[in-house]
Amino acid sequence: MTGPARIRDLLVHAQQQLNDSDSARLDAEILLAFVMRVPRETFYAHPEDMVAADQICDYLSLVSRRASGYPVAYLTGQKEFWSTELTVNQHTLIPRPETECLVETSLELIPEQAGLDILDLGTGSGAIAIAIAKERPGSQVTAVDVVAESLTVAQANASRQRLSNIRFLQSDWFSDLPHAVFDIIVCNPPYVDTRYRGFTDGDIRFEPRIALDGGHLGLTIINHLVPASIRHLKPGGYLLLEHGYDQAPSIQHLFKLNNYRNIRTRCDYAGQERVSYACLS
Ligand code: GLN
Repeated sequence: MTGPARIRDLLVHAQQQLNDSDSARLDAEILLAFVMRVPRETFYAHPEDMVAADQICDYLSLVSRRASGYPVAYLTGQKEFWSTELTVNQHTLIPRPETECLVETSLELIPEQAGLDILDLGTGSGAIAIAIAKERPGSQVTAVDVVAESLTVAQANASRQRLSNIRFLQSDWFSDLPHAVFDIIVCNPPYVDTRYRGFTDGDIRFEPRIALDGGHLGLTIINHLVPASIRHLKPGGYLLLEHGYDQAPSIQHLFKLNNYRNIRTRCDYAGQERVSYACLS
């Protein structure tokens, strides 16, 4: 394509380039909105508007990177989570809609007026910690990650939201929090089985393996966190874990073995068992 073009024609062209993606039309729109710095909705109101030649050039280069499989969120550097636009990059997992189930479940355990101490383990882009800190301004959120580059992203995301009730710390799970105790510990750990063949497919192949690969059966980190959290929970405190659709029975069993009580599992919006949580007496 050379010279200016109509939005509608450009989107049709891009969609054809992207037909390997099962979200070709959406991807085409998100990338064009990003290049033109306008909300996607304007394409429906003004499909006949012209796009300038230089913007088309930038757009087509993004479309071709997307056509080669690179995730849209890494191309735009943005992903919406819990109604907040977050910066993401290749050091952070791309926040998933199902993780909103973890936020929702956590919020039910954090009364609005209470000033609780909350820990987000493996914060990545800060998605979970920021959502909780925004919804519960009276509570204090500590967010840790072992990857320094992730913390830089998470910190920038929190600053953009002007949150004063969140702090960040580099730590390998609890390694740098030896004596800290919390009312709520929340974690979206790596839980994908290390033998999962899909690691080489789709968006996931560009995401940090450390945030996804949960070792044997996907349970290595969870097997560590359930007992390790005991020393870091106040009496009555809750541990909440996101997990794979078939892992709830193993995690419930692990909670029982470690004398947690009120053990529960919650389904995500797709109806998959996604979050298990329990408390300590
Ligand atoms: N839900 C993610 C996926 O299947 C996994 C996220 C994780 O391991 N924490 O792609």
